[in-house]
Amino acid sequence: MIVMKFGGTSVGSADRIRGLVDQVEERLLQRPVVVVSALAGVTDLLIRGAGLARDRDPQLAPLVSRLADRHQDMIRELFGPGPFRDRLLRHVADLMTELGSLYAAVSAARELTPRNLDAIAGIGERLSFEIVAAALEAGDIATRAVDARRLIVTDESFGRAVPLMDATAQRVRELLRPLASQGVVPVIPGFIGATPEGVVTTLGRGGSDWSASIIGAALPAAAIEIWSDVDGIMTLDPKVAPGATLIPAIGFEEASELARFGAKVLHPATLQPAVQAGIAVWVLNSFNPAAPGTRIDVQPEDAASEPRGIALRKEVCLVLIAPPRRSGDGFRARVFDAFARHDTPVDLLASSEAWLSLTVSDATRLPDVVAELAAVGEVQVLQRMATVTVVGRGFARRPGAGKRMLASVDNLHVLMIAGGSSAESLSLVVPVEQVEEAARRLHREFFEQEAREDPQGEPPEACAVAAWGA
Ligand code: ADP
Ligand code: ASP
Ligand code: MG
Repeated sequence: MIVMKFGGTSVGSADRIRGLVDQVEERLLQRPVVVVSALAGVTDLLIRGAGLARDRDPQLAPLVSRLADRHQDMIRELFGPGPFRDRLLRHVADLMTELGSLYAAVSAARELTPRNLDAIAGIGERLSFEIVAAALEAGDIATRAVDARRLIVTDESFGRAVPLMDATAQRVRELLRPLASQGVVPVIPGFIGATPEGVVTTLGRGGSDWSASIIGAALPAAAIEIWSDVDGIMTLDPKVAPGATLIPAIGFEEASELARFGAKVLHPATLQPAVQAGIAVWVLNSFNPAAPGTRIDVQPEDAASEPRGIALRKEVCLVLIAPPRRSGDGFRARVFDAFARHDTPVDLLASSEAWLSLTVSDATRLPDVVAELAAVGEVQVLQRMATVTVVGRGFARRPGAGKRMLASVDNLHVLMIAGGSSAESLSLVVPVEQVEEAARRLHREFFEQEAREDPQGEPPEACAVAAWGA
């Protein structure tokens, strides 16, 4: 068995869905399990609609019509008059009614809870997976649409639910293995799951990749294929640097680090289940299926240590905390405790004698953290920051690595340089409007010229140097 996950653009048009049918057909001997995202842009629209509903904005009605039209048009383009078309149009009508009720409840309460938002955001995948399943069926491929709410059991952290792996694995095996062994292709909506009580949850934005690897690890599958709109994992987002090149093979750690620091091509949690189950993950291009893609696997111990890629993350907050004059050992513990208690992960950390500097990319609960930190020390929050991260095994330990990074962004405003959780990466924090330029310059330095000799004889730089304040 293999898992094939198709992202938003890979199911974004009737043509793409026809391509998907071909790609699945080619792999029928490998007994594929198909996981699909919502049509490109639909999750964004659903979430925008939720805000409009809360604000009782009249723009909601046209947005809902747009959503319905988008799916109905695609169905009419894919299926001539007949039972497939009728069934799917009914399915869309039913889900639009459900969406209408969800929006009405939000408008009535004038409040958007994370639980309501998940129910709304998950409609996109519930719309798309039935269309994809019908397209496969119409292409004479034995198919079964299986709702992920019956498969992926999660906790109740709405908006970023965590799968309960034992319960999920049991359901995946019970429901999917018999289908695959009968030669039936299961088609499953990504992104969503449900609590043990059956309340719909989502795995966080971009979470369909994670759905695929959770299912792949539970089966277990021989390979997990992530079909997207790029040739594979590139040295930098090709939308930022058109000169970015394909990384044909990469280790789990390096790929995870790229994802963790913003390379959107993979949801950051995707590789965890695959690593544990020892399953290779491929990133492939549904617009260019003949391209070899990127293979993510265990990296050989002797693999060369060199920069592998660059990731950037926008919308980051930099939090600076100065301890009171006579702070005891408890200062740091209190700081980290405040972040942990408000469920706000810290991405990067640098410290100097005077300040502790931290970056946060999920700032939803940052105001609560800051309110609490006010009792611990002096706090400053700098918004509209971004991180740019060079990833490569052992990169952060290489002599001169940080110096080379800083030199290539010399007249940009670098507020902090810090090593990642391991020696896999080194990051710079810059204002968001400078981050693409910083990424391009780093790309030129590390990927677009002959690798320069590292300066010899210099001591390794500290991994966490607070260099902010310029
Ligand atoms: P999907 O809908 O298929 O899940 P996403 O939009 O989530 O696709 O992810 C694919 C996008 O990720 C690409 O179009 C590209 O702009 C972006 N991306 C960011 N970093 C990288 C990278 N290092 N390599 C390839 N793509 C990247
Ligand atoms: N449709 C969801 C999103 O846009 C999940 C995904 O595409 O992976 O976030
Ligand atoms: Mg994605």
